[in-house]
This record gives sequence, C-alpha cells and structure tokens, in this order.
Amino acid sequence: MLPEILAEMERYSKAVEEKTVTCELETCLRCGKGTGELRLHDRRKRTFRWVLERLVKKVVVWLARWKCRLCGATFTLYPPFALPYKRYVTETVTRLSESYLEKDELTYRKAVLQDGMPVFHEGAEGGPLDERTLQHSTLYRWFSLFGALERTRREALRLIRQRSSRSGVFRRILPIAPWKYRSDERRKLLGRSRQLFSAEKELGALFGTSIFPRFATLWAWS
Ligand SMILES: [Zn+2]
Repeated sequence: MLPEILAEMERYSKAVEEKTVTCELETCLRCGKGTGELRLHDRRKRTFRWVLERLVKKVVVWLARWKCRLCGATFTLYPPFALPYKRYVTETVTRLSESYLEKDELTYRKAVLQDGMPVFHEGAEGGPLDERTLQHSTLYRWFSLFGALERTRREALRLIRQRSSRSGVFRRILPIAPWKYRSDERRKLLGRSRQLFSAEKELGALFGTSIFPRFATLWAWS
C-alpha cells in the first residue's frame, strides 16, 4: 500500500495535469477580488523529497500557477504537502522539526537519524543511492521558515483566541532545552516554532484546518 503522503502528492499532481485542480485562495492577493477571477494559468514541475523510514524519497509533482483576470497577477499556489522554498514535504519538515523541539535529548545530528541510523537518499533499486545522507544542517535551516511565519503564528493565535479564549495554547509553557541555542535570537526562533506547532494542533482541533496550507501559501507568491 502506498503511504498516504505519496498518494496525496499523486492525486494533486494528476489534478493539475488534468486541469481539474481548484484554487483554494479566497481572493486575489494583489487586487483583493474574488476567486471567480482566478484562472489556472500555467503549471510547472517540482521535485519534492520526503523521508520514509531510512530513505529520502523523491517524487516529481505538477504545481499550478494561477492568474487573476482582473489585475493580471500570477501566483503559484503551494498544495498542503508543500512549503514555500522547501524541497522536503510539509510532513517531513514538521515531523522532524517538532521532534527536535520536543525531545530535550535530541541534537540536530541525532534528530535526523532514524533509530540511531543515518537516512540515505534512495537510488533506482530502492536502496541507498550512494553514501549521501540526510544532513543535520538541513534540519537546522528548516527553522528559518518557521521564523518567517511570524505573522502566520500571530494570526493563528488570534483565530484561536476568538474561538476559544481559554485555549491551552495560551497557558502552555513550551520550554526549549538551554543547550539547543547559543544566542537569544535562536532561543526565540525555537520558542516561536514550538508555539507555531502547538497552534497548528489547536487550529486543527477547532477549525479542522492546518496552519501551513492556509497561511503559508500566502507567503509563496513570486
Ligand atoms: Zn487580481
């Protein structure tokens, strides 16, 4: 059986290829008019990576480009499994990042291992391609994205507060182990990332939606 993540990518890619994909934007981000004016404009191929057990797998996916008929703006809309500027899919980025944040004993080097063993890039035969492995520097860099989602984090908290002002997300203390940062800047980044993940869960419980596709795509326009 195909893992759910791969099935989701294949479904989306097929919908773009067959032009049956629907635009999830509510309004054009440039002129603010309704989605009725957004048309599928173009598509492009992107290679995404994801980690399954001890392998980094690759899959090529079609992404949709939308055009507003009123103002002419064109947007690439990232599907839920993709994050802007990230080659790895949302599931892999969030799973490994969250695990790093939550488990005090994990260093970046340990957090990219699977059962203490390195994760290899998959070759044609389904085994390792060569000696290259998933690097701890990759995980380190993923956090810059969460730092860039500061408006997203605040907006998510605002929505949660409106719906449930007593939500645990405002009371929960989410400490970051002090050996995980050397600068105050990094400490704040890791703390905010943790709160983003906490808000993500709360948003899912309250609204049945995810923080990442709903908001992060708004930052992905080129
Ligand atoms: Zn427009």
